[in-house]
Amino acid sequence: MTKKLIAIALGGNMILQKGQPKTYEQQMENLRKATDVIINVIKKGYGVILTHGNGPQVGNILVQQKSGVAEGIPGQPLSICGAMSQGQIGFMIQTALEERLYEHEIHDKRVVAIITRAVVNHKDSAFKEPTKPIGPFYSEEEAIKLHQETKDTYINDAGRGFRKVVPSPIPLEILEGPTIRRCVEEGDIVIAVGGGGIPVSLENGTFVDVDAVIDKDRATEVLATQIDADILMLLTDVSNAYLNYGEENQQKIEKIEISKLKEMFDEGHFAKGSMRPKVESAIQFIEYGGSLSIITSPENAIAALDDKSGTRVVKKI
Ligand code: ADP
Ligand code: MG
Repeated sequence: MTKKLIAIALGGNMILQKGQPKTYEQQMENLRKATDVIINVIKKGYGVILTHGNGPQVGNILVQQKSGVAEGIPGQPLSICGAMSQGQIGFMIQTALEERLYEHEIHDKRVVAIITRAVVNHKDSAFKEPTKPIGPFYSEEEAIKLHQETKDTYINDAGRGFRKVVPSPIPLEILEGPTIRRCVEEGDIVIAVGGGGIPVSLENGTFVDVDAVIDKDRATEVLATQIDADILMLLTDVSNAYLNYGEENQQKIEKIEISKLKEMFDEGHFAKGSMRPKVESAIQFIEYGGSLSIITSPENAIAALDDKSGTRVVKKI
């Protein structure tokens, strides 16, 4: 195969921003803008795998589960809600992207969305301490009752009310990796690993769903490595990763070798739950043989591919 493969992760804010109406129309409008960059990458001749976050969408689906109970419809587990969000967002990206392909007179591409599972180890230390708040808010009494009924853990989330917390284990393998690879090789644009994938673990020879969430940047790296992609591109709402971010002396990281970036990582420059998993994924992709990791915004993505913008991580400069 001669074509270069690029795995692109779309940040959650590209689909729905805080404060915007949570409608289908709003999400489609955001996605139509977000797909510009994908069209440009396709025009450059890359084989493209798109991954995406699902935070706001799965959050809303979980709230809908809660209100359905009053109508006698049992709430579905987190794994099912994750699968629903992959279907929902996958379909929206597919629709938005096909519109753009048509406008740009690219008629030889199919866009497919694949329900994706990520394997985790049930012995992962994350299971000892659930940290990630998800879904609706409850009163303290409701939370205590739910805890007694289900053994799920609830915490007071920043004084806003009680929420269920789940573990965030490390993804080890993307089960649909080989299928994804085959589809991109045939020229399809593949949407996969939505929300980091549905976490599953191996029990008695089969994969069963586990109550957890996976960081989408970490899962995108695992997929990119697994299918031997050339480039890992993590798109978000900042143009670069920064040193001393948010302080007066903040400094943009541009082109950098992994050894240097690792030092910065160990010094704790990147915030947990946001930039830290991106930097960690960028480093790991190169360590496992990838040629280039990029962290940037959609506006800078093409310039980053031309080596002119964004944080670009390489083995040696
Ligand atoms: P996404 O949905 O794209 O994963 P996140 O909110 O998880 O978005 O991560 C991007 C955010 O990380 C930025 O908006 C920025 O505020 C934050 N951030 C934390 N530390 C840094 C850093 N060192 N450099 C740049 N951005 C950082
Ligand atoms: Mg994030």
